[in-house]
Amino acid sequence: LVAAAAVMRQVAAAGWRRMSAKPAHDMASERAPGVVSFSPLQTYSEEENMMREAVKKYAQERIAPCVSKMDENSAMDEEVIKSLFEQGLMGIEIDPEYGGTGSTFFSSILVIEELAKVDPSVAVLCDIQNTLINTLFGQLGTAAQKEQYLSRLSTDMVGSFCLSEAEAGSDAFSLKTRAEKHKDYYVINGSKMWISNAEHAGVFLVMANVDPSAGYRGITCFIVDRDTEGLEICKKENKLGLRASSTCPLNFDNVKVPDKNILGQVGHGYKYAIGMLNEGRIGIAAQMLGLAQGCFDNTIPYTRQRMQFGKRIFDFQGMQHQVAHVATQIEAARLLTYNAARLKEAGRPFIKEACMAKYFTAEVATLTTSKCIEWMGGVGFTKDYPIEKYYRDCKIGTIYEGTTNVQLSTMAKFIDKEGGL
Ligand SMILES: Cc1cc2nc3c(=O)[nH]c(=O)nc-3n(C[C@H](O)[C@H](O)[C@H](O)COP(=O)(O)OP(=O)(O)OC[C@H]3O[C@@H](n4cnc5c(N)ncnc54)[C@H](O)[C@@H]3O)c2cc1C
Repeated sequence: LVAAAAVMRQVAAAGWRRMSAKPAHDMASERAPGVVSFSPLQTYSEEENMMREAVKKYAQERIAPCVSKMDENSAMDEEVIKSLFEQGLMGIEIDPEYGGTGSTFFSSILVIEELAKVDPSVAVLCDIQNTLINTLFGQLGTAAQKEQYLSRLSTDMVGSFCLSEAEAGSDAFSLKTRAEKHKDYYVINGSKMWISNAEHAGVFLVMANVDPSAGYRGITCFIVDRDTEGLEICKKENKLGLRASSTCPLNFDNVKVPDKNILGQVGHGYKYAIGMLNEGRIGIAAQMLGLAQGCFDNTIPYTRQRMQFGKRIFDFQGMQHQVAHVATQIEAARLLTYNAARLKEAGRPFIKEACMAKYFTAEVATLTTSKCIEWMGGVGFTKDYPIEKYYRDCKIGTIYEGTTNVQLSTMAKFIDKEGGL
């Protein structure tokens, strides 16, 4: 553990951003003379490799022993959250000036994938913090807001993203939470649903409408501290999967927020939410990818050991073809996810590709977890193995940060607009 933390510090101190452009594996030496060659999509920089290895080790040592208890108790272990901060995993892209690791979006994606292999609930905690909360503060915060919040978000404070409401899910911008302007403050009234990490969050980014007559153009993003009077964090949902991740309704009863707590510009909240969710979907794709890989990795050794009819069950061709099919799906999911992440990082259009990655990885996670239970036979159906948990956890991939239908509709819009793929 100490070694893993040291790697993060080393990475931060070495100036990650500057170094990460250098591929770990130099393809030039393998090139035939005169042939233009491109690095394969699964080429990592030296630092990305270090990060993956360090997080893999950390997740095995620190998270794995807590997974089934956290699932059973529907509660995230406080020590796990503390260790995520200690490892520098809650402020991956935050500038070292604010105590962050100073790394890249792609590194966040690799970290989310590695964590999800072990526990998708821990992965989503890290995902929301890095791909939504920190990015919003980093891109839109004033100097004072960055100073106050980024330094805490990288070291000891969890943040929650509050858009959905009971009557506003896929149709998120029909939200009813209202922020009424007074002298130099706003008063927020309304309620939110499904807010991830709310149990532990110290700060909430809340989308509320300052001018319902303007429709979605009145939606504004407010920074609301946990201890603000009138904010109630209600009883967490009792869920099928992702049980260690708290998901709570929130009530806002005359919550007074000063003008200085507006993040970005008044009336631009919908743009910020769309922008963040476009990127966030790549994080969810990484979560689903890691989940599928983790489940597969936990299953294959069993199939290579279990004997029936005097043979390993892996030796039956009927099994081998299924295993190879699922492995191919996971590989394709990884390529879609990494491609979307690299496009985003390169500043190129990525929205359609992010939707494809999220949609496809959720499908692959569903297929993989279902097949893995079948391959394990009766024991796969019990809590003696982690497989049934992956099966429950994967379902959320088709729902949050835009349902599967919403992803497909967005892709279709692009295909229509561009007249093809
Ligand atoms: C565990 C969990 C964590 C979450 N975390 C957060 C969070 O941190 N912050 C936050 O703001 N929200 C969060 N959400 C909310 C999540 O984003 C919404 O649940 C999601 O957007 C879907 O909204 P809904 O549940 O109201 O479903 P609905 O919108 O009612 O959808 C129901 C069904 O109708 C379909 N549908 C709806 N509209 C269309 C359409 N136009 N075309 C075709 N099909 C359609 C959907 O695809 C879906 O199959 C979370 C949800 C869950 C379950």
